[in-house]
Amino acid sequence: MVAGYSEIAKDMQALKAHPNIDDYESQRENWNWDSIWAELDTPNGLINQAHECIDRHALGERAEKLAMIWQSASGEIENYTYADMKRETDKVANAFRSAGIEKADRVFFLSDRIPELYFGVFGALKLGAIAAPLFSAFGPEPIKERVQRAEGKVIVTTPKLLAKVNAVRDELPSLETVIVIDHREGTEVDDRDVAWSAIVPNASEEFTIEQTGAEDWSIMHFTSGTTGLPKGAAHVHNTVVSHYATGKYVLDFHDDDIYWCTADPGWVTGTSYGMFAPWSNGITQVIDEGGYSARRWYETITKHQVTVWYTAPTAIRLLMKAGTDVARSHDLSSLRYVMSVGEPLNPEGVVWGLEAFDLAIHDNWWQTETGAIMIANYPVMPIRPGSMGRPFPGIHAAIIDDEGNELTTPMIEGQLAVKPGWPSMFRTYWNDQERYDSRFKNGWYLTGDKAKRDEDGYFWFVGRDDDVINTAGHLVSPFEVESALIEHEAVAEAGVIGKPDDVAMEIVKAFVTLNDGFANTRELLRSLNNHCRTRLGPAVAPREIDVIDILPKTRSGKIMRRLLKARELGLPEGDTSTLEED
Ligand code: ATP
Ligand code: MG
Repeated sequence: MVAGYSEIAKDMQALKAHPNIDDYESQRENWNWDSIWAELDTPNGLINQAHECIDRHALGERAEKLAMIWQSASGEIENYTYADMKRETDKVANAFRSAGIEKADRVFFLSDRIPELYFGVFGALKLGAIAAPLFSAFGPEPIKERVQRAEGKVIVTTPKLLAKVNAVRDELPSLETVIVIDHREGTEVDDRDVAWSAIVPNASEEFTIEQTGAEDWSIMHFTSGTTGLPKGAAHVHNTVVSHYATGKYVLDFHDDDIYWCTADPGWVTGTSYGMFAPWSNGITQVIDEGGYSARRWYETITKHQVTVWYTAPTAIRLLMKAGTDVARSHDLSSLRYVMSVGEPLNPEGVVWGLEAFDLAIHDNWWQTETGAIMIANYPVMPIRPGSMGRPFPGIHAAIIDDEGNELTTPMIEGQLAVKPGWPSMFRTYWNDQERYDSRFKNGWYLTGDKAKRDEDGYFWFVGRDDDVINTAGHLVSPFEVESALIEHEAVAEAGVIGKPDDVAMEIVKAFVTLNDGFANTRELLRSLNNHCRTRLGPAVAPREIDVIDILPKTRSGKIMRRLLKARELGLPEGDTSTLEED
């Protein structure tokens, strides 16, 4: 347990539903992926993510159930039932076929969160093509790099974003077709491009899904770029088995839930949990085109009566910064379950959920490469603030040493590893098989993260391999130092690095941003220093603390420590394609 935080017992009342996972130990013991497969609709052993997420509901009892409640940036609402989703995605699949898209073609999506983005991804999956969503905020370079690496044949975009594609299209020999979603903006589309309005509205409303098996390619996601050059992790249709299972048992989907995932599909969370997990479970989800603001988010929860909410630590820290009273001034009583992913969730954040929503926030861990949640806090299990929770049933996670041997002694630090073979495991890094192969050792998939496991099987995140600090012989977790810093009333966010030092090898250096109403004064720094020394001890407390205006983050909201370090040391910044610049 992190010092100062006690275990949070489960409040079954708050859950307002009998949890799908009600006995973790026995469900783990008796886990069988085949029985999950049997809950899906897999005629003749074929499986297609679009069929699992849309058609099987549209052709069954959920046809008239709402699948998507879309809220535009300006607040208009459009509702789509599962039957609507089937019709729209069938039309898109036919239209895409008429535009020359074939099985295994890489189809990129560069679009804001509008319904056509979702229709497009599923239309591509119905064809057996590989869907590759990008952040709409990407500039021309990141777009070029990714399309080049994956030899993308098609880009689907909107008039507003087209100029960024045009800026690099001469350098993209594989790119044959640009499809422009024109009808919402009512723009003329250049002759060399294909207008959505010319191919989709009149397309047939019936499409027979391409025969895809478990190992056929489905989706490609570029990693967040937190530690270096983003890698194109490619997944297969079998991945939906994990999406379905984790949606059911970690996100605890019940048929009447209204779910909201705040992640953009440019990040894997926005597809695995913003498309596939909720829809394979046949539930209703809210999709908001708009960006973050505390008020907008709370109003969205109230307006749509959101029950299950999946967000990220960066957002939680922003909401904390906005103040508990802002949360309390909204009626958020519809919420019953809140989760977070993407970075370690500071214990302060877990506990703040109780203050703001009467609900502890459930952290869980996974990666682009794992395709779905691997380690989680569950509705039935007490939360140990600062822990990522325990492995998903059916997942064997371990702490291993450098030789790939499992370390079974509790609280020993090592590499977090997962036993290969789970359904949503990535199958390659596109055009970089060597790097893919290097991620496996002695029968383990190496995650590149350092962690520990306690005597009860809870996993504790220590840091990225590259981020762990070695100061005078102590191994220091940046996460632990950051968590201590943000407990201080003045600190909104913190990023901690190891700064090379002749004597200590590295010293702990912290960068912090301040909450409103606090100024960068000598007294403040003294108070921060005192707080850290008391909380962490002098060996681990940061030797240097700088106050800065903003921390560099990826578009998925992760603190880029490698950039803090490069800037501190005056070194080249490396790949910054995912840096959030707003
Ligand atoms: P890149 O691989 O390009 O450096 P990335 O690793 O940030 O980027 P993602 O696949 O989006 O790309 O993120 C996965 C990583 O995020 C994990 O390996 C882990 O380091 C971190 N992470 C995600 N969730 C958690 C969590 N709950 N606790 C701690 N770390 C987390
Ligand atoms: Mg990674």
